[in-house]
Amino acid sequence: MQHKIDSKQHGPRGEAMTGAIESCVHCGFCLAACPTYTVLGEEMDSPRGRIYLMKNVLEGNLEQEEAQPFIDRCLGCMGCVPACPSGVAYGDLLTSYRAKVESERQRPLIDTVTRRMIIETLPYPARFRAAATAGKLGKLVQEALPDQLRTMLNMLPASLPKAIPIPPVVAAKGTKRARVAFLTGCVQTVLAPDINAATVNLLSANGVEVVIPQNQGCCGSILSHIGEEDRAMALAKNNLTAFAQIDGEVDAIITNAAGCGSGMHEYGLLFAWQPEQKMAEAFAAKVKDITVFLDELGLVGIPENQPERKVAYHDACHLAHAQGVTDPPRNLLSAIPNLTLCELNDGGLCCGSAGTYNLEQPDIAAQLGRMKAQAIADTGAETVVMGNIGCFTQVENHLAKMGATIRVMHTVQLLAQAYGV
Ligand code: SF4
Ligand code: SF4
Repeated sequence: MQHKIDSKQHGPRGEAMTGAIESCVHCGFCLAACPTYTVLGEEMDSPRGRIYLMKNVLEGNLEQEEAQPFIDRCLGCMGCVPACPSGVAYGDLLTSYRAKVESERQRPLIDTVTRRMIIETLPYPARFRAAATAGKLGKLVQEALPDQLRTMLNMLPASLPKAIPIPPVVAAKGTKRARVAFLTGCVQTVLAPDINAATVNLLSANGVEVVIPQNQGCCGSILSHIGEEDRAMALAKNNLTAFAQIDGEVDAIITNAAGCGSGMHEYGLLFAWQPEQKMAEAFAAKVKDITVFLDELGLVGIPENQPERKVAYHDACHLAHAQGVTDPPRNLLSAIPNLTLCELNDGGLCCGSAGTYNLEQPDIAAQLGRMKAQAIADTGAETVVMGNIGCFTQVENHLAKMGATIRVMHTVQLLAQAYGV
C-alpha cells in the first residue's frame, strides 16, 4: 500500500519538499534542460525521475539507498527550474532532501574521509591555501590522498597566486552614488584573488563606497548545497553577525560568486523555524550579484577608447538558472565599446563544475567540461567570461586540455580592465 507524504514529519523543510513534489505534473518539459539526462539518457537521472524517487523515499515506499545514486548524480545546476512550466521549486526540494538524508546515510569510509577533508578545508581560505600548497609540493602527500582529492589537486594551478589584501573600506571615486557591503568569499580568495580586487575597484570607479566586514567568512552555500546543513548554518550565522556590525545602512550586500549568491538567497529556508529566520530573510533580501547591482545603478565613465574584443559569455548555472540573472552581465559587457558578444550554442547546459561535483562525479563532470569547452571554442571568441569561480576553474582546465588559447575571465575582471582599474 502507498503511504501519503506527511510534511510535518519531515521537519522545518517538510512543506518546501511536499510543495515541490505536489506541483510536478510529470510533463517532462524539464528533461531536455537536464545535463545528466542529456549525458546518461536515463529517466531516473532526470528532474522528473528524481522527483519521483524523492517522493517515494519520503513516503516510505522506497529505500533511501536505492534512490541515492541518482540523487547524488544531480548537479544541483537548476537547469530544470526555468524549463518547468509548473514552477516546481526543485532547488528547495533537492537542498532540503539532501539535508534530511545526509545525517542518516552510510558512506564507504574513503568517501567519508574525502568529504570530511573537503568540508574542513574548502570554506576556510587559510586551511585551503595550506592544504593546496602542501598537496602540490609534496609528492608523498599526494600519494597518500584519496583519488578524488588528487583529482582536485590536479585542477589547481601549479602555484597559487599571492593573496591580495582588501582594506575594510574602499572609498567611492567622484560623486558617491551608493554604499554596499561586500562578501569576499572563500575558495575564490585563494584561487583568483584578483576577482575581488577587480570588484571593489570597479565599484569604486562607479561611485560606490564598499564596506568589507573583517570578521566575515564563507557564506555556507558550498556546504548547504551538499546537505551539510548544520555546518552551513554555523558559517551563515557568523556572517549574519559580521554584516550586522556594519555602521550605518548599505544599499546591498554584493557577491561576485553565483554559488554564494544563490545560497544566500536561500537563507530563509536554511534558517526555517530558527530564531534567526527573520534576520536571515532580511539579509537575503539585500544580497545582489555584482552584475545585477551595477546594471541597475548604471555604469558611468567607461573610457571610449577600447580595443576590438570578441567575448563569449558563459551563464553560470547558479546565476542564470537559480537566480534568473541573464541580462545584467550581458548589458554590462555590451556597454564596453568595440566589444562583440558571442553566445554559446549549447542550451545553457552546466559545465560540470557544480561545487564539489567535480570531486564526487568526476566522469560526468569531465564529459560536461569537454562539451562546454567545445561550445566556447565554437564561438570563435578570444576571451570567455563568467560569474562563478567553480565554472572558471572547470572551463580553464578543459579549454587547456583541448589546446585552446581562449582567455578565461570573470565578468568584473573584463569590466575593470576596460576601466583601466
Ligand atoms: S517540467 Fe516541471 S512539472 Fe514537468 S516533469 Fe519537469 S519538474 Fe515536473
Ligand atoms: S538540478 Fe540540474 S542535474 Fe539536477 S535534475 Fe535539475 S537540471 Fe538535472
